[in-house]
Amino acid sequence: MVDVVVKNILVLKIGGGVLQNKDCFERVVKIVKQKREEFGGVIIVLSALFGVTDFLIDNTRVFSNEGDISEVIKTIEGKHVSYLNLLNNKKFVEEAIIDLRGKISVLEKFFYGTHYLKEITPRSKDLIQCYGEKLSPIVLEAFLKDYGVDAEFLDAEKAGIMCQGSFENAFIDLEKTSNNFLVNVLPVLKEKVVLLPGFYGVDENSDIKTFGRGGTDYSAGVIANIFSAKLEIWKDVSGFMSADPKLIPNAKQINVLSYDEAEELGYLGAKILHPKTINPLRKKDLCAEIKNLFEPERKGTIICSKKELHDSIIKSVTLMKNVGIVTIKSSTMASSSGFATKVFDVLGANKISINLIATTETSISVSINLKDVLKAVSELNKIGKEFDFEVTSREDLSLISVVGEGMRETPGVAGKLFSVLGEKNINIELISQGASSINISFVVDTTNVNLAVQEIHKKFLEERV
Ligand code: ASP
Repeated sequence: MVDVVVKNILVLKIGGGVLQNKDCFERVVKIVKQKREEFGGVIIVLSALFGVTDFLIDNTRVFSNEGDISEVIKTIEGKHVSYLNLLNNKKFVEEAIIDLRGKISVLEKFFYGTHYLKEITPRSKDLIQCYGEKLSPIVLEAFLKDYGVDAEFLDAEKAGIMCQGSFENAFIDLEKTSNNFLVNVLPVLKEKVVLLPGFYGVDENSDIKTFGRGGTDYSAGVIANIFSAKLEIWKDVSGFMSADPKLIPNAKQINVLSYDEAEELGYLGAKILHPKTINPLRKKDLCAEIKNLFEPERKGTIICSKKELHDSIIKSVTLMKNVGIVTIKSSTMASSSGFATKVFDVLGANKISINLIATTETSISVSINLKDVLKAVSELNKIGKEFDFEVTSREDLSLISVVGEGMRETPGVAGKLFSVLGEKNINIELISQGASSINISFVVDTTNVNLAVQEIHKKFLEERV
């Protein structure tokens, strides 16, 4: 694989969602100017403007008439043009509007296509839903130019962001993309700030594929990998917290997280950084920092290979509501080979993803999203006779996880954790520890979840810090 080696490159992931007014754009321009003085090359990986992806998702539908399509197109165009109207240089504005309209007219054709075919396929979803990222960089490029920063937007097709895998959940082909960047991105980067779109790429059949919700972080991680660059993720918060501040007002910002910790927290629902971002960084031992657009001087959470141990081991406590448990119990199970495989096959075939698993000789319990419980029970019952088992379920549960390096090697963490819950009479429905060396997860009744998180935070993250 070709490594694109350029000294001193910085990749800035800007969440399009924070670009909500002129002040926000001006903040980004200021940051880019500063970074350009510090670094040899600056690449911005941008996501859609606030609400645009949701709007596109809501409108990937069969319309009742053509008038609805015009309304949708007008809204999308209006949203992007309203920012351009804030600029001084009319030439930049006109160029950007031509570019926007060209792209939006193609989008309009896709809407007509799905409307007349009366068919929404994974391919058509990706074709439509990538437009947030196809349009937002046009606006930011114009802003940068208006404020004197020489910048150029290369869309995924032009830059050569190649991908593989399924629609709506594709991944970047690192080798092909690196090779393309050498030819398409590197020469521009030497002269200008380069803007690249997040969230989607193009496969070898020229199909557009997206990387899943929040996938711009992942694009930025891969692009940082290609350039062996530092990554800064600019958001409206400064980083990961010891707990959700809405529930724990004195939750603290975490200064450093290892790759594994950031990945676990991402999968456990901390909406700070998409967990798929981590692996490309890990592969090259690269650092990422979360930065707050509204407090740019403040140090954010740094994610790197360093494993820093917190005094009390636990760095963060997270919770996920709307969980259910399905238990499959069979007294003959121990002797029937293939039972577990069958159970997981049924769940897999129905696209039911599992949070936690606990097994004994006679039963398997899984925690899953509440919305999947009924389906899981009815599908499992279909094979119940064959294996002579009984399926039961519990609803209204929540999953709590504590995360921190050093958990496996440190005696007493689980003991302390569960005695905190015992003292408050909080019953644990399911536990998983050890599958990951840095995480203990368990399920409790939702009525107890807030109290459980508060008590854990108090005991581990307030008293000893
Ligand atoms: N615009 C996409 C989304 O809303 C990708 C991203 O924001 O990272 O999911």
